[in-house]
This record gives sequence, structure tokens and C-alpha cells, in this order.
Amino acid sequence: MPGTRAAKTHRQGLKPRVVDVYHARRRIESLVRRTPLRVSAPMSRLAGGDVRLKLDSFQDTRAFKLRGTGNAVLSLDASGARSGLVTYSTGNHGRAMVHVARRLGLPAVVCVSRRVPAAKVSALRSSGCEVVIEGESQDDAVAVARRLERERGLFFVDPVNDPAFICGHGTLGLEIVEDFPDVDTVVVPVSGGALIAGIALVVKHLCPRVRVVGVSMDRGAAMHASLVAGRPVEVEEADSLADSLQGGIGLDNRYTFDMTRRLVDEFVLVDETAIGRAIGFAFLRERLVLEGAAAAPIAALLYRDRGLFGKRVALVATGAMIDTGLLRNLVARHAAHVDELAQSSRGCHES
Ligand SMILES: *Cc1c(COP(=O)(O)O)cnc(C)c1O
Repeated sequence: MPGTRAAKTHRQGLKPRVVDVYHARRRIESLVRRTPLRVSAPMSRLAGGDVRLKLDSFQDTRAFKLRGTGNAVLSLDASGARSGLVTYSTGNHGRAMVHVARRLGLPAVVCVSRRVPAAKVSALRSSGCEVVIEGESQDDAVAVARRLERERGLFFVDPVNDPAFICGHGTLGLEIVEDFPDVDTVVVPVSGGALIAGIALVVKHLCPRVRVVGVSMDRGAAMHASLVAGRPVEVEEADSLADSLQGGIGLDNRYTFDMTRRLVDEFVLVDETAIGRAIGFAFLRERLVLEGAAAAPIAALLYRDRGLFGKRVALVATGAMIDTGLLRNLVARHAAHVDELAQSSRGCHES
């Protein structure tokens, strides 16, 4: 138990460094796949360049979050995580933590508010973790997780404010620059900002000329609102197809706000129609299942000013956790538009 506290306190003083990303890669090797960077023929045609998709939706939990969680947990000293892991997310972060806990034989606790739908709670339970239901909001769930960290000596897996988490995500940036050395622009969906901070840390160090572009939905994007305000702010949550991009960056944000402000070149917002069409485009033209957050970079490339992106572009496809009924509806609704778009690209190319 004391080990948990000591390990954490020690780590929180450290800033994320590129060398830590290399350490992270070795540490998480057995948990995390090196995912493909696949050329997109239809988007390359449309953009008149070389557009590739970094398919982290192919991780075992169908999202990239294993990188950060794996590194945060595996960099604890031997005693640090023995009593188990705790966090508060019902989404990709929570699932990644439970996956890592099971692989390491550790108990896992996920704290949720009473607002979380019963179906999500039972899905979590059947994944083999303990679910603690308390409070009315995500903020309450965070507070409960923090309390269990103290009371039970659990390790709190923090998806925003832990340098080890950010460096774990940085491994995705390493893979991109190694597999696509002449990339011009890397496009990354943003919520709390740990992913873009980790990627930008690596990319700006190894290839300073490469541009890093962040993308969020146009309503309720906490990082974007914070960048505009010049300090971390809270935003009102709105429904979005990009549900994995909802939530705040924390008023006590320690790293990701500052790193995003310093290292990210451009921030683009996309609307719900563009996200829906991008999900349809991915399915129909790429034969890929992507959730809204993961389709946001595609939406930006297809519907925002192409001048932002340059010729050689890597779009990070972060996850595949979309409800199948919703996917079916979106594909049906946007099929005609996606066809038209694809035709127009062929027309452009030939003329
Ligand atoms: C968590 C998540 C993001 C955003 O990552 P942050 O590090 O919170 O900015 C994007 N896409 C998917 C699928 C996610 O699960």
C-alpha cells in the first residue's frame, strides 16, 4: 500500500520525455500490438496526396488506450499495484484498464455514477471487474475513485494527468514516424489530450517540420475551449457521435493542456454530419468499423480546408467501439453521399 503512494508521488514530479516513450515501448511490448499504417486509396485520390490510416482500432480492446494504461501500470515498482487498479471510465479507458488488470492478475475497480445506463454497468461487470455505483456525475465518480485509491491502496489509473500515460500513447507517434518517415501532417482526435500530447512530443522531437493537427467535435470540446480561453476551462457536455471525445481536461490539468498549446500546430472542429458521413465513408470505402471519435480526423480531411493537411497525411484511427445499430443507420443514411463523394474524386483525378 505505501508502495502505491510512493510510486505515484515520485512519478508526478516528472515531465514526459522522449526517452520515456522509448522505455514505454519496451515495457508494453507484450500488451500492445504494433498496428498497421494503411494507405487509403480513396482519400489519397480525394486529397491528391498520400493519405494513410494508423489503425489502432485493431488493438485487442479495439482502442489505443492500452498503450497508456499498460505503461502507467507496468512502470510501477513491484509493490505499487498489488492491491489492484481503480478508475472511473465506462468507455475505452475503463476497458483497457480491466484488460491490463486481468493480464497481470490484479483486481480492477471501475467507479461510475448512477447516471450510467444499466447495460453499460452489466457489460463492465461481465468483463470481470468490480463496479462501484455512486454519485450523480462523472466528477463524482472521479472523487469516489480517488477515495478508493486512499482507502484500499488501489492504483488510480489517471487518463489525463500521468506522464507515464502520456508517454505510453507516445509509442503510437514513434510507429507513425518510423513507418512513414516523410509524413507531412499527423491528425489526431482530442479529448483530454493525452494521446495528442504523447504523439506531438515524439513527432516534434524526431521530425520538427511535421505538423500535428488536433480534431474534436464542434460542441463540448473541452481542450479546444481551454486553448481559446488560455487556461483549462469546463464546458457543457453535448450529445455527440464522438462520445469518446466527451468529458473535461480537468481544471487542475498538469501536462496535456500545456503540451497541446506548445506542440500542436492546428486545431480543427467537425460537426455531427461530417462525423456521421466519415463513419459511413470508413465502412463503405475502407471496409473499416470506426467509432465517431476515430472518424473525426477523416471528417476533417474530407470536409475541412484541405490546405491544412499537406500531401502526406497520417490519420489516427483510435477506436472501433460503435453500437452496431447506430453504425447500420449511419451507413444507410450516408451511402448515397459517400458514393457521390467517391465519384467526384475520380472525376477530379482524371481531369
Ligand atoms: C480516449 C479516446 C480519444 C481521445 O484521447 P485523449 O487522450 O483523451 O485525448 C480518441 N479516440 C478514442 C476512440 C478514445 O477512446
